[in-house]
Amino acid sequence: MQTFLGCVPLARKVTDVAGRSPVAKIGLFLLMAYLFLWVPDLDFLLLDLLHHRSIVTHSVLPALVFIFLGWRAGAAPIAGALVGIAVHLSCDLLSPMIGFGQIWLPEPYKMPLGAFSYPWLAINALLAFIWAKRIVVRSLPAPYGDLLAAGTGVVTAVTYGWVNEQAVSAIIVTLAILALSYAGPAILFRQGKRYER
Ligand SMILES: [Zn+2]
Repeated sequence: MQTFLGCVPLARKVTDVAGRSPVAKIGLFLLMAYLFLWVPDLDFLLLDLLHHRSIVTHSVLPALVFIFLGWRAGAAPIAGALVGIAVHLSCDLLSPMIGFGQIWLPEPYKMPLGAFSYPWLAINALLAFIWAKRIVVRSLPAPYGDLLAAGTGVVTAVTYGWVNEQAVSAIIVTLAILALSYAGPAILFRQGKRYER
């Protein structure tokens, strides 16, 4: 478990981009965070293959694809993308898990996960926040990277939760998962710190 939380799949290649200014890094981080807030709902464009709230897009997979295809983009924008996905998935947790609110398997099954949609969204949101935090510090050293990831998580949770979901509960759940992404690994896997850098 410790090793599981300690690793970021494919992300070993994700490093700082030489010559990019701190302002550019922060700008790219913020831009990708806001863009990826909407990426999970791209399943609307692929309704022949995917149901809305598809397990394919409502997971860390879009960020992992971005890591795989875009690792040259550098650590800051990839970490930003992870924050955006984490906030979207956290806010989706508030829907009742019936009909369109559930997470759905793609063709040829197109079956909903039912109550398993809750742990699916929660675990993927938590992982996305944890990976964002671990990747951003490769571009912006601590404490600035950490502060940027946490601050953007809070601001996007409040704005997206309020504007898109119109629900204070969405904001509270997102902030709780963000807090857990900091507190959980630190408390449970204190030893894991040795592997972090
Ligand atoms: Zn969604």
